[in-house]
Amino acid sequence: MSPVFPPLANKLGELKSSAIRDLLKLTSRADIIGLAGGLPDADLMPRERLAKAAEGALSDNSCLQYTESPGWPALRAVLAARESAKLGRTVPVEEVFVTHGSQQALSLLAEVLLDPGALVIVEDPAYVGALQVFRAAGARIVAVPLDREGMRTDLLAELLARGERPAFVHTVSNFHNPGGVTMSPARRRELAELADAHGFWVIEDDPYGELWFDNPAPAPVATYSRNVIRLSSSSKILSPALRVGWLVAPDPVCRAVELLKQGADLCGSALTHQIAAELLADEAWLTAHIDTVRAAYGARAKALVHAFRARFGDRATCTDASGGMFVWADFTDGTDTEALLPKALDAGVAYVPGSAFAVDGGYRNSMRMCFTTSEAATLEQAIDRLARAAQSTQL
Ligand code: PMP
Repeated sequence: MSPVFPPLANKLGELKSSAIRDLLKLTSRADIIGLAGGLPDADLMPRERLAKAAEGALSDNSCLQYTESPGWPALRAVLAARESAKLGRTVPVEEVFVTHGSQQALSLLAEVLLDPGALVIVEDPAYVGALQVFRAAGARIVAVPLDREGMRTDLLAELLARGERPAFVHTVSNFHNPGGVTMSPARRRELAELADAHGFWVIEDDPYGELWFDNPAPAPVATYSRNVIRLSSSSKILSPALRVGWLVAPDPVCRAVELLKQGADLCGSALTHQIAAELLADEAWLTAHIDTVRAAYGARAKALVHAFRARFGDRATCTDASGGMFVWADFTDGTDTEALLPKALDAGVAYVPGSAFAVDGGYRNSMRMCFTTSEAATLEQAIDRLARAAQSTQL
């Protein structure tokens, strides 16, 4: 007889793994070209430079101790300097808080900013990792769609005019995961103005901003308003294994996050913080390293987009891949991407159906493709396989 355990918290009922996620577990088969995962390319991670920094960090015992909850002071100082340059104002060290990846920043901020039932506005399609956190916090979630210029701030303004009062609006402003788009400067300004006028926070979640291919990302939303809490991360430019993310926020938010961080994990790792501090401070090396990653991802992205457009013509549209890690495609011929997935897996290619990112359903004709972990020729082969699978669904 299987044992009966005491119950878990009710909120977990909302957090079940989706059927699609379960299907995607099959994608680790060696013969499948993976466009489904959302991982940076480990081969481009700077192992030797990291090893050198690790050796330096271990030359005495100081990095082996617990550190301050808001982060290793040397790392906060480097981040404050980098964020000051990005935001065009002096960001004091007290306003920089290091987290265990930016995912932990989302989780701590949900606790700091949300009472049960509070309204959170997200983009649709949404970053699933954020949705999970906000749902677990008991938020009421309302979605605002994306278009080519990012969040539809006109629709956000309508919601506000109808009396909706969000605790915060979450946006992935640069090279959206999963939507692939970047918010235009005009929309950034409008979002900031709405935040100031209606008194809500904006969480600007920006792990991809440095991975631009054609033009640098526009100035952050945080340059336009002090109601913006900016999140970023070393995961996509150095390595996710460091688990170094950070937030930039006014002092009261940082103090509240500090209280909760102490309960969550006391502090981050002084060791990985010092390694990240050394690499982020080595500007000449860092610029050259990020250039290499951008060039590699840019070439892969262009190859994928070119092959997709050549193969699917007017049956589908896709984003331009101007940075980040993802291309979003919409089938205009009614192809159901959930129904297509098993056939695509048979043909040897995996992607994530759009419905996995939908806040309230929809996106049945859409998909997310990640271009980071295969070379151009392999990506072209992936699109050939996808086209073959899509052809067979039509017959
Ligand atoms: N925000 C977004 C939009 C992401 O895509 C990710 C990673 N998939 C994260 C936050 C979290 O990244 P990390 O915790 O590694 O910094």
